[in-house]
Amino acid sequence: MRKFTTAFLILALALGISACGNTPKSETPISENNVSESRTEQTETSLSTDTKETSKMTTIQIIINGQEFEAELYDNEAAQQFREMLPLQLDMDDLHDNEKFFYFSDSFNTADQEMKEIHEGDLLIYDSKCLVLFYENLETRYKYTPLGKISDTAGLKEALGAGTVSVSFNINDMTDTAQTSVNDVSFNFETKTVTLNSGYEMPIYGIGTYSLLDEECVNSVQAALENGVRLIDTAYMYHNEESVGEAVRNSGIPREEIFVITKLYPNQFANAEAAIDEALEKLDIEYIDLMLLHHPGNNDVDAYHAMEAAVSEGKIRSIGLSNWYVEELEEFLPQVTITPALVQNEIHPYYQENDVIPYIQSLGIVVQGWYPLGGRGHTAELLNNEVISEIASSHGKSSAQVILRWNLQKGVVVIPGSSNPEHIKENTELFDFELTDKEMDLIKSLDRNEKHDWY
Ligand code: NAP
Repeated sequence: MRKFTTAFLILALALGISACGNTPKSETPISENNVSESRTEQTETSLSTDTKETSKMTTIQIIINGQEFEAELYDNEAAQQFREMLPLQLDMDDLHDNEKFFYFSDSFNTADQEMKEIHEGDLLIYDSKCLVLFYENLETRYKYTPLGKISDTAGLKEALGAGTVSVSFNINDMTDTAQTSVNDVSFNFETKTVTLNSGYEMPIYGIGTYSLLDEECVNSVQAALENGVRLIDTAYMYHNEESVGEAVRNSGIPREEIFVITKLYPNQFANAEAAIDEALEKLDIEYIDLMLLHHPGNNDVDAYHAMEAAVSEGKIRSIGLSNWYVEELEEFLPQVTITPALVQNEIHPYYQENDVIPYIQSLGIVVQGWYPLGGRGHTAELLNNEVISEIASSHGKSSAQVILRWNLQKGVVVIPGSSNPEHIKENTELFDFELTDKEMDLIKSLDRNEKHDWY
């Protein structure tokens, strides 16, 4: 689901260019050449002193797991080339627990320097093609071309975590800092995805699995996957994580093309670390794309911190919340490090959350609606609503499709639940029509502030 796959990286690794050149913590140089050179290199200039090129620095923004860092690019040819490539989103792999690296297919115009010290936050090019971001201080005997450095590295190591991480590099428009500092949550209707503030892409429509159990759940998820759905919402509380995992594993679809959301229930918050491992075990799909706290509750901040740690460990890619509204978010957000990537709340034409949605989106957080069709027991009334039915017939679509499309046009991700293969297919056919502003307003006028569940 990402802009860049690691395919080239794998090729590079297979060709034996696995190291991006830093000296391992053991201080053992990687190649024999470097062993023989090592003594003289000790006297060479370090990046931290003479090689800083501060004359004409440009500032860029780097986003890692929802955390934003500012980096200054040096005034050299490679840095200029890199800047021209922005915005970029890269899957950066880990090396030696001190750097993240990515191999480009083309070479930069490098001017390698022998360096003595590397500093946390240094952004360098190794071997003309390998972008390296260091998150530890270390000594090195390798040559690099300095690109720039992150100015304030507080939280960098934690944000990067272990293993592969998605890193976004953006041009920092200094004339509008406020705008560039918030993730753009607008939907791409071509790719049918949205980019989360964690850097990962997520489909904007999917299937919800509440109340689907065992075989029915496996079959429904399978039908959804066969119809092009790539977003699946489950939860510990739905007692079907195993079934969702089974359908995903048996689908034959590459894991990285499917996006699975699950949730921790409040009764798990006190022991969230174990609960995360339990979810991973039940799903058995290598990693969790997005994990949410299902409801506010005792120990929710601690549980969120456990999810943050799991992001660092590569167990979870993105994290978020469910059933958090304005007040709850205002209280919660200052207590956590990673900004939630998504908030999932009840949203349908009879309960529209017209104040809450823009507030959440203004924070760069994606909004997802549950009970998009009103929820079981309420769907008939909503689907037969006269206004919605009329709009539907004018477009030759069903009421369900109109409601789902209305959500998408409001920037709300939809996860309708269904065990009916025809409905499942129907719920994917949302991109061959568009509601007019007037139709959007007509549906807006149906709001009754009528919740269909207690939370
Ligand atoms: P929903 O999507 O609003 O409605 C599901 C009902 O709609 C089912 O009875 C389904 O029946 C019917 N349906 C689906 N597509 C239809 C279509 N095209 N035409 C006619 N009827 C259709 O309710 P939900 O499944 O409970 O909610 C959606 C998802 O949100 C859940 O599955 C769950 O993943 C999530 N959720 C989250 C929370 C939370 O607290 N975070 C709470 C509730 C739900 P058929 O099976 O016959 O199609």
